Parts: sequence; structure tokens; C-alpha cells
Amino acid sequence: MNTGDASYIKQLNRSILLEEIIKNMSLSRSDLARITGLNKATVSSQVNDFIQEHIVIEKNIGESITRGRKPILLEINGRAGYSIGVDIDEHQMNILFTDLKGAPIKKIKLKISNDNLDHVTKQLIESLKPYLADLDQTYKPIGLVGVGVGIHGIVNNENEIIFTPKHQWSNINIKHSLEASLQTQVVVDNNANLSVFAEQVYDEHIADLFCITLYSGIGLGMIHKNEIYHGYQGFAGEIGHMIIESQGLPCPCGNKGCWELYAAEKALVDQLHKKTSIGGAIDLVSLLNQEGAVPVIDTYLDYLAIGLNNIINIFNPEKIVLNGAIINENSPFITEIEHKLKSKMNNYRDIRASKLGADSAALGGAALAIKNFLGLQAINYVGYDYTKSSLIAK
Ligand SMILES: [Zn+2]
Repeated sequence: MNTGDASYIKQLNRSILLEEIIKNMSLSRSDLARITGLNKATVSSQVNDFIQEHIVIEKNIGESITRGRKPILLEINGRAGYSIGVDIDEHQMNILFTDLKGAPIKKIKLKISNDNLDHVTKQLIESLKPYLADLDQTYKPIGLVGVGVGIHGIVNNENEIIFTPKHQWSNINIKHSLEASLQTQVVVDNNANLSVFAEQVYDEHIADLFCITLYSGIGLGMIHKNEIYHGYQGFAGEIGHMIIESQGLPCPCGNKGCWELYAAEKALVDQLHKKTSIGGAIDLVSLLNQEGAVPVIDTYLDYLAIGLNNIINIFNPEKIVLNGAIINENSPFITEIEHKLKSKMNNYRDIRASKLGADSAALGGAALAIKNFLGLQAINYVGYDYTKSSLIAK
């Protein structure tokens, strides 16, 4: 075996062991050897490295039943560092901080003060600085491990923003300026990609998973064989701009009749305001209960089902998570949508609402930064049940 092979195998074993420690939350060295099939000496040497690096800590838990030694359990050292996920939407940024175990520890929302992305980036950096100074004191010695940023638009495989229809941002790289200012690794991806990644990491760890976000626009994120599916250049999943009305409403993307103009929740809210003659701000639940709302909702669900029908026929997904404020709180809507998917060609196993809600993209960004920092293939926080965290909006 040459040295290249040896270091590759060491790296592979490292990621396998860390993935098992994360997934199982707490386990002994002999459990690790048994689960991974690696010999005890390899496990022991790698675990010593993890402890030296402060990634893993030992815990003496409980009394041993026999007279033997107390079992020493290994866990990820949550307090050793922290990660940041940022979801940059049309008018606001949602920023979520997690510890090294992926637990949400803080959340802030910022109004975007200016349309210019340079200003938005500066605003983000300036707003983060006081929090970083504070968190660096608590989450040490590693501190900030990385930042994952979600953008509502097209991001290529080099983390460059190619186009966002709403702000008309094009060909901009914010990765480098954020990395220089924050002195950490930054990853930039489409928000729906980060959302589906969060669903897989935090809620349902299956190898193939789809997530459709339905807020100000529509995004499709796909996990295929445990990887975010980006397509040839990174543009896959721009499903909100699938044309469903040939002479339909004009879209900022340059076409007419795009799906998101009819099936994003913004479209539903606009229609409800129009058809129920309710102007001004009103909460969503009251709006849905207004007289005249029923036919508007029905038309909306029709449009939603048209797009879903197309997606199902193209991809044959196993499971689709729908993520929108209205859908997440109204499980009867899912039943209605399924009734509208009448075609015998529609093959999928399940459609369900998200438990991560509007925080999914920010959570996915934070988790992706941790995955990259630890050099993992996959990351599984399902057992920790963070979906019940009070920091995650439902
Ligand atoms: Zn469009």
C-alpha cells in the first residue's frame, strides 16, 4: 500500500467513526468497533485524535452492573464550537446558530436594508460580529467552524450567485468576502437545496428525499443517493419557473405563467387579499377563515397539484416534504392535494409537511458547514430530536 492509499483510508475511517458517534449520540469504543467493523486499535487511535482536537469528549455514565470498569462513552463535544446558517430571502435574513452537535442555540432575523448585495453582505458581517465575539467565549476552543448561506435563486457549483429573479443579483461571489471577513469556511447554495439537506439531517435520514419550499417563491431541493443533487452546473431544481399557464402572468425571470406565480404562498396571500376584500396586514389563519376564501384556496391547491404532478412524473420521488407556513399548519391540505393527484402515473410513497418550517434553509446551512468542517459524507441528527426545539418555527 502506498502512502496516498493509507492516508485516504485513514480519512475514510475518520469520517465513518465520526458519523457513527454523531448518529448514536453516545457510545463506547467497543460499540464503535462493533458497529463499524474496524479493529479496536484503529478505533482507539482515531478516537484519541478526536479528543485531542476537542471534537469528541469522554463521559463516565452510570455504574457498571458487574465489577468491571465503568463504561466510558464518547460524544460529540457540542461546546467546542459553533456553526452559522443564513437564509437570505427577499426582504429579510434568517440567521441560526447551532453548537457543534447541531443543536440550535440562537436565532436572529434581520430586515434587509438595501437591495444591493454588497450592502446586504456588509450588513450581515456587521450584524454577526457582536454575536461572534460573545459565542467565541462560550463555544471554544474551536469557535466558529463555518457558515452556510442560502440564496433564493441560482447558485452554481463554484458557490457563485448566477441569478436571483427578485433582486436581479447576477454573477456575484459573496463566498470570498464573507470568508475574508469572518475568517472561516463559507458555503453558498440555493435555499431549497439547504432546506432538503436540513430535512435529511434533522428529521428523516433517507438516501432519496425531495423538499419543495413554498414561501415567497417555489424551490425544489433534491437529495439523491445521500448527496444534494445540483445538476450539471448547479442549476437543478428551478421548478418555480416551470411554465404552467402559456399566456399567464409575467414573471421577473422573463417568461410568463411560471408555477410560483400561482402556487407559492405569496400568490395565495395576494389572491386572498384580493378576493376577500381584506386589505392591510392580517394574520394568515384569519385570512384563511374569511368568507370567500374557500374557492381561492381550492384554486391554489389545484395549481399546487399541477406542479407536483409534473415533478412526480419526471422524477418518481420516494418522499416529498412540502414546506410552507400554510401547508405546515394544515394537514388537511395535504389530503386535498393528494386527492387532486389523480393520474395513475403518479408514483410516490409519501407527501408530508415539514417540521422545520421557515428555519429549514438556515438549519441546513449550519449543518452543511459542520459536515464540511468535520469532513463527513453524511450527518444524522435525527436521534437528538431537535425538531422540537423552541428555536425552530413551525
Ligand atoms: Zn419565472
